[in-house]
Amino acid sequence: MAKFKVIHIDIYRRDITVFIGSHDEFKTWIATCEVPTSWEQLVEAVVESEDNAEASYWYNNNNGNGIIELKKHPETIEEISTAVHECLHCTMRVLSYIGIPCVDYAANEAYTYLLEYILKNVLDYKNYELVKL
Ligand SMILES: [Zn+2]
Repeated sequence: MAKFKVIHIDIYRRDITVFIGSHDEFKTWIATCEVPTSWEQLVEAVVESEDNAEASYWYNNNNGNGIIELKKHPETIEEISTAVHECLHCTMRVLSYIGIPCVDYAANEAYTYLLEYILKNVLDYKNYELVKL
């Protein structure tokens, strides 16, 4: 069953919504739920999307808020790394919206993929070498 929560980032007065469910459930939910008027542009983009990505970060240009869309609650290394990738998109968007220098959206994919790659390897406990003391 799909679910969502709103994360209030009080220090920056922004909200990030996390939605967990299929993309079809997400499209239905966003088209039918009562969304703030500032989300209208975002709703249109989501409803028209045929994207079947493992995860997405949706935002609009009006207020620096956004939505992280995940297919399921992250448990595996891959799922956790993907969620972190989207969290970094979100972080960079919120900060750049309020004027803290960050690379803009098109260029920050390099940062999110590199963070995802490093995190996957940190979390993969199978290929650590034992320290011989
Ligand atoms: Zn990305």
